Amino acid sequence: MYKSIQDILPNQVVEAIRSVAGDEVAALHEPSFDGNEWLYLKQCLDSTFVSSVGKFVDRFEKDLSKFTGAKHVVAVVNGTSALHIALKLAGVKAGDEVLIPALTFIATANAVTYCNAIPHFVDSEIGTLGVDAIKLRNYLIDYTDQRSGLCINRYTGRVIRALVPMHTFGHPVDIDGLLRVASDFNIAMIEDAAESLGSYYHGKHTGTFGILGTLSFNGNKTITTGGGGAILTNDADLACRAKHLTTTAKLAHLWEFSHDEVGYNYRMPNLNAALGCAQLERLPFKLAAKRALYERYQNAFAKVAGIKLMAEPSKCHSNYWLQTLLLDSENSNMRDSILKATNDAGFMTRPAWTLMHELAPYKECPRMDLSMAQTLAKCLINIPSSAGLVVDQL
Ligand SMILES: *Cc1c(COP(=O)(O)O)cnc(C)c1O
Repeated sequence: MYKSIQDILPNQVVEAIRSVAGDEVAALHEPSFDGNEWLYLKQCLDSTFVSSVGKFVDRFEKDLSKFTGAKHVVAVVNGTSALHIALKLAGVKAGDEVLIPALTFIATANAVTYCNAIPHFVDSEIGTLGVDAIKLRNYLIDYTDQRSGLCINRYTGRVIRALVPMHTFGHPVDIDGLLRVASDFNIAMIEDAAESLGSYYHGKHTGTFGILGTLSFNGNKTITTGGGGAILTNDADLACRAKHLTTTAKLAHLWEFSHDEVGYNYRMPNLNAALGCAQLERLPFKLAAKRALYERYQNAFAKVAGIKLMAEPSKCHSNYWLQTLLLDSENSNMRDSILKATNDAGFMTRPAWTLMHELAPYKECPRMDLSMAQTLAKCLINIPSSAGLVVDQL
C-alpha cells in the first residue's frame, strides 16, 4: 500500500536519531563532568572560600578572556543578570526601546524589562535563525527618525537605544550586516551569546563584536557552572563599571563598607567558578564531540526527505549547541507528530520557544512583521545534542 510522507516521516526521524544516539533514552542536552571538576571543587571547599571571593573567579575570568579573545570578562550569577548589566552599561534607560528577536529565550526580553525599557521584536532569517539585518534596515528606514544623534520610533516617540541579536542554538548571526545597521542608525549593539560559547564569526569569537556580549553557563549550555554567566567587553571602562555594579557597588577598602550607588549582588560564587575552570579545560573536547555528532546526524538525515538538519552559516564556525531539524514548510503540520513519536521513543526533542510577542507579558510590545520567525517556530525541532552522545565513540 502507498504510504504518504505524513505516515512515514515521524518514524524515519525516530530511526535516524536512533542510528546516531543509540537505543538508550537520550536527553536534549546533558552536562558531562569528565575533567578536573571534583579536584577543583575539593580545593575550593578546602580553602573555605566558597562564596563571593576566591581565586577560581579570577582564574575563570582570565581563562574565558583567553578562550574568547575578549579583553575583559566579568563572571556573574547567570546569563540573565549578565544581560541586565550589559543593557544598563549600554545606556538603556527607563522608557527606551530595545530591538530583540521574537525568536529567543525569554531571558533576552526579561533583561530589557528589568531596565524598565520596552522590548521591540524583530524578525529572523532562515540561514542563521537570527535577526535579519536587511529586513531590520528597511524597517528602521520606514519607521524611525534620527533626532540629535538618537534613533526615534516615529510611532511611539521613544528612543530605540539598543539592539540585542542572539546566536540561535550556537549559530552566529549576520554580524557585519547588524553592526552596519547599528552604526547607521545610532543604536548600541550587545550580543546575547548565551548559546554560542565556542562559535566564531569570520574567525572571531561571538560576543566580542558588540560593545558588550554575554554568556550563560546554565546546566543545559555547552559548559556549565551550575548557574552562571559572564559579561564580555574590550572596553576597560565598561569592564570596571560591570565589575563595580555586579559587586554591590562597594568601594574597595580593607574594613569599611561603603557603596557609591545602587549595585547588584550578581558576582559568581567561587564554588561555581571552580566548576567553570574545570569545564572550560574540557571545552575543546566537547566542541569536537558536538561537531562529530552533527556530522553523524547529517549522514543519517541526508536520506530523509522533507526535513533538513541545520548547518553552520557560511564563514562561520558553530559550537552546534543544540542540533536542529527544519521541516520543509509544506510539512510544518507534522511537527507535533514528530515531537510525539520521538519523545515516546525516549529521545527528548522540543520545538522552538513560543515567540516573545505571543507571551502574556509581551503581547502589547511593538514589533515588525514577524512572518519568518512565525514560519521557523512551526518548523524547528531540537534533537538530543549532548557531547556525551559521541565521546565514547570518538
Ligand atoms: C540560556 C540563555 C540565556 C541566559 O540564561 P540564564 O539561565 O539566566 O543563564 C539568555 N539568553 C538566551 C538566548 C539563552 O539561551
